[in-house]
Amino acid sequence: MGRIKLDVGGTLFVISKTSLEKYPDTLLGKLLPTSDNYDENTNTYFFDRNPEYFNHILDLYRTGSLHMPHHVCGNSFQKEMEFWCILPRYVGDCCLNEYFKYENDQNSMTYINHSFDQLDYTDEECKRSAFKRTMRKLWLTLDQPLSSIAARIFNYVFMTVVILSMVSFVLGSHPDFRDQILTFEQLLWIRQNMNVEFFDNINLNNSKEVMFATTMTSRTLTNIDLFCMIFFTAELVVHFISCPIMKKFFTFPLNVLDPVLLVAMWTSYAFEQNLEFMIERKELTVIYQITKAFVVLRLFRFFRLVKIYSGLKIILLTLYASAKELFLLFISFVIAAVFFSSFVYYAEFSVANEFPTILSGIWWAIITMTTVGYGDMYPSSTYGHFVGAACAFFGILILSMPIAVVSTNFFEFYKKNMERERILKFKTDCEKQKTDCEQQKQQTFTDISSTSTESNKSDDSTSDNTCVTENSYI
Ligand SMILES: [Zn+2]
Repeated sequence: MGRIKLDVGGTLFVISKTSLEKYPDTLLGKLLPTSDNYDENTNTYFFDRNPEYFNHILDLYRTGSLHMPHHVCGNSFQKEMEFWCILPRYVGDCCLNEYFKYENDQNSMTYINHSFDQLDYTDEECKRSAFKRTMRKLWLTLDQPLSSIAARIFNYVFMTVVILSMVSFVLGSHPDFRDQILTFEQLLWIRQNMNVEFFDNINLNNSKEVMFATTMTSRTLTNIDLFCMIFFTAELVVHFISCPIMKKFFTFPLNVLDPVLLVAMWTSYAFEQNLEFMIERKELTVIYQITKAFVVLRLFRFFRLVKIYSGLKIILLTLYASAKELFLLFISFVIAAVFFSSFVYYAEFSVANEFPTILSGIWWAIITMTTVGYGDMYPSSTYGHFVGAACAFFGILILSMPIAVVSTNFFEFYKKNMERERILKFKTDCEKQKTDCEQQKQQTFTDISSTSTESNKSDDSTSDNTCVTENSYI
């Protein structure tokens, strides 16, 4: 029986030739005396690899399946498998989970790292032109709040304006912050004597509609809004112009939101400045209401905070990564809601005025399953009580299962993000230490240079020599 001697990292391994030939698609299965690793004098094949890993590799040829040592880094063992041309399909079933765990860890880390990638100018671009350098400063200040002190300050200013714009929006719906333009009697007079559709459509029993028809946002709030709009417009323009790759600017959802929001805000502002013109045209009133609805989106500007608080980004990433589970939750919820609403409809058939249709039962089922229970609809017959109890019970079950998966995903991402931040901090510290070290070296070098220059001078050497010494150190 032919034996093959393998010298791996200084340790000698002996294995039968027939064992190696079992896997001809691997590196060891293709060994020939003509290969570079073969040493004629010792009749061995030499490989400069880790002998500790090699024992596990060799087990594949002896036992027919590969088992991973659990105390080593999965990534390094995968590299070892790649070197020996061993495919993942040879990994034993018991170790497959471990094998994929490393891969999954790696994938989620790459996913998180990728989501934190930032657009930036390259160093070469900045070296070449002063314009790019200025643009880069602007871009970093506007886009990456953690990049410098100026960027931090700008971000606080930006957030203050966002809060201001939100406060003005919220207060705009309060009667105390609105200026009276018509009295209730004047409104009644207009309705009776003038044929304006806007006023005719107002429901006089609805105090909100009457308030919006007889008042308008106070001058102060309008001015605050105007200031916010000018600020956001200027910010958007500079932000866009300073973007390193303009095409990619709108690939970020928040950057898409900004122009839409600004168009909506400016349009509704223009309408508010020309109330009489708008009221006379029905189509314009509809457009005004739509733009006003869009203005609510300004609350989304708060998501800018994701650039400072990575935890917020992790919540978004979790939702995105858990799309499958959330879809499952939605489907199971819809099925259960239809199921219980049909049941309650027939269980309450004999009760007058309750659950008039199955559709209204769906609303009841959703509110019961989420344990909200508004109490606007409830079963009152014995059968109905049974259905109601079952609905509440299954609702808790259906809700809890996919949510557990979502929270596990969140925990995983959160843990990975903490690791990422730790690694990032470690790398920054290392870089800082390296720069400090180089600066120190440079300082020592300059000190030596000046000392030698002075000594040269004291030695009454020629001025030419001094120049040469200085230049040589520069
Ligand atoms: Zn195993």
